[in-house]
Amino acid sequence: MHPEVEKLLKLQETDLQVQYYSGRIELLPKQLAELEAKLNGTLQSLESNKQKIVKAASDKKKMEGNIQDLEQKNSKYRGQLTDVKTNEQYKALLHEIEFNEKEVRKIEDGILALMEQEEELRKESQAIQQQLQKEKALVVSEKTAAEAEVARDGEILSELQSQREAVMRSVDPAVLQTYRQIAKFRKGLALARATQDSCQACHVRIRPHVVSQVMSGDLIITCDSCSRILYWKPDAPYEATS
Ligand SMILES: [Zn+2]
Repeated sequence: MHPEVEKLLKLQETDLQVQYYSGRIELLPKQLAELEAKLNGTLQSLESNKQKIVKAASDKKKMEGNIQDLEQKNSKYRGQLTDVKTNEQYKALLHEIEFNEKEVRKIEDGILALMEQEEELRKESQAIQQQLQKEKALVVSEKTAAEAEVARDGEILSELQSQREAVMRSVDPAVLQTYRQIAKFRKGLALARATQDSCQACHVRIRPHVVSQVMSGDLIITCDSCSRILYWKPDAPYEATS
């Protein structure tokens, strides 16, 4: 293999790995946001549960106020019973008192139902809070794991970057520029392996005399079809490239 091509092959491998690890590191904020989002559903049901408890308590207070009003009215009416002049007025007051007493009982039943509802809501609230604690603990451990993984990726990346710098310094500048240009429009794959009859990247046929030039390693040869720099590597299994 041409010595510069051999260096480029190492460079391409390092470049692809740098790309891979950078991509993984860039994913961290998204990963963390996804973990946070897991908690949101539970937090929302806790919030809606709290609001229901507040509403039940305020409804109960309102109803208790209504009972007080009705009882005050009735105690006033009872006082008036001794002062009324006619039988009709007396009956009307009694009727009013009876009606209010019925209302009070209805409201009391309503209050009882609300109290039961409130108790259920409080039980529910406890269960949601327990679930939230579990989910929080899980998110914390997943976050820690993700951050540790990214820290390891960061170490690998900085090692790869120094390897890449070293390889880049060793490559002939003109060859390096050609490599960069091809890599730019070939998604980082500037080199392609040549087989006896075709380029492994674009699968277009290579003429026999070009194959022998690539095999000799005397010159840097590019593929006529995809412009990638061709290399010959007889001892490795042929990989499927796209
Ligand atoms: Zn090609």
